[in-house]
Amino acid sequence: MDLTDVAQSAREGNVGKLFDETATHHGDGQAMEHHDERTTHAELEAWTAEFAGGLHDLGLEPDDRLLLFLPNCPEYLVASLGSFKAGVVISPVNPQYKRREVSYQLEDTDAKAIVTHPALRPVVDQALEETGRGVEVITVESQYMDRDPEDTFFEDVRGEPTLVERADDDVALLPYTSGTTGKPKGVQLTHQNTRSQVNWTLAASNDDVEPENVRSLIWLPLYHITGFTHTALQPLAGGGSCYFRSALEWDAQECMQLIEDEEITHFVGVTTMYSDMVAADDFGEYDLSSLESAAEGGAKLSTAVQEQFEETAGVDISEGYGLTETHGATHTQSGSSFGLRHGTIGQPLRITDCKIVDESGEEVASGEEGELLVRGPQVMKGYHELPDATDAAFTENGYFRTGDIARRDGLNYYEIVDRKKHMINTAGYNVYPSELENLLLEHDAVADAAVVGIPDERRNEVPKAFVVPADGFEAGEDITDEEIKEYCLERVASYKHPREVELIDDLPRTTSGKIQKYKLEE
Ligand code: AMP
Repeated sequence: MDLTDVAQSAREGNVGKLFDETATHHGDGQAMEHHDERTTHAELEAWTAEFAGGLHDLGLEPDDRLLLFLPNCPEYLVASLGSFKAGVVISPVNPQYKRREVSYQLEDTDAKAIVTHPALRPVVDQALEETGRGVEVITVESQYMDRDPEDTFFEDVRGEPTLVERADDDVALLPYTSGTTGKPKGVQLTHQNTRSQVNWTLAASNDDVEPENVRSLIWLPLYHITGFTHTALQPLAGGGSCYFRSALEWDAQECMQLIEDEEITHFVGVTTMYSDMVAADDFGEYDLSSLESAAEGGAKLSTAVQEQFEETAGVDISEGYGLTETHGATHTQSGSSFGLRHGTIGQPLRITDCKIVDESGEEVASGEEGELLVRGPQVMKGYHELPDATDAAFTENGYFRTGDIARRDGLNYYEIVDRKKHMINTAGYNVYPSELENLLLEHDAVADAAVVGIPDERRNEVPKAFVVPADGFEAGEDITDEEIKEYCLERVASYKHPREVELIDDLPRTTSGKIQKYKLEE
């Protein structure tokens, strides 16, 4: 896409219009394929407009929130684009979540509806019972498998085709992310954020393949911003097509086979996925040459894995960087002026201003480390109903504090060197120690707890919990590490649970009472 096209489609208001515009240019083109069922861009446009009308018929109004609690599937995208058109704010929920996590998001968003899958319905029912909320539950019935060609995916949520007016800074998307302190926060991403991010990442992808010929394999979870933006919205807006696989059923060999069979041109994965591919016995036997764009984001890409992949598959991997708060990428290697440079996240997208600052907020010289600050039209409006956290996240002149420590070289390529925040990044998933610590402290037998990340060859890092037993509970007898693991597994998504638990007498603390995590990490 050239920049004039970008300027043309970067209109104002409801981001749903962007996808309608795609349908006017590429109506007959394939937008989605799943189990040999194909949907065109024209069908997608019609179904999403009808879904929007259906939401209004159910009583949802613009600015109301709708939870999307679904695995990767075509219905995910129909419900998302349809909600944009209805002006209804989508709040995606990780399909691995258990009752307490869903309840939290139901309450914090004050959601009016939830779209879910039959397999997840029991968790929804538990959360509704726990919170006592009356919420419209829309269950996807997997109509894709054997549907009447006249059917949309949501026969019960089908009304007059609708597209409401929205202002640029009206919220479109409300994904949740945690901080080091406190609870998960809703990130307010506006219609303008979505439109800018989609248009500019499309413009930055300098693949040889035309956008309408892009075939994107969605294997990253759609509830997370990287998968949603860069494996779904971006290819769809360009007129390309999406293939779906469940993030819960990752299989490196199946992935490579699918790339070969479907001549996938666009794949975004986390470093663990690439490392599983190169570790497969038959890695060199797959033909991955259709890939025009293989990208990595969400965590640092291992250079060793990158080199092995590139050497054997003959396809470059472009590392990118971004956050939920920036609607995905702020930096990509592929769009950078001097091409790919291993070990970096590339240059900032043209819409993104960046600064690296020291503790006092002064900019540091190139080559020196400091906190990365970013500013641009893809950066969030703020945190949902948290004015103090929003104020703290931005500098006076509107830069967002990423909490990541970076450095920049003389060619304006950036490298992420560390994290300021205590987040644990496990196989691309973020785990916030505070969430696990709060959960551990609710256990009767736990007096004190701290969670840190420990290195793990495959997953990059995994959570480890240090637990101090409460009075009257003998370690190894009344409370064991296995019981603690089990307790966590029952209550949070499994990637979050501590893979190791150590029962200790006391946590090392500073005189002001802060836990000295670096000592535990050692
Ligand atoms: P999330 O909000 O879940 O997308 O997580 C954003 C965080 O992931 C960033 O603040 C970084 O700490 C980390 N991250 C994303 N991309 C990279 C990368 N290429 N290298 C290192 N860390 C990354």
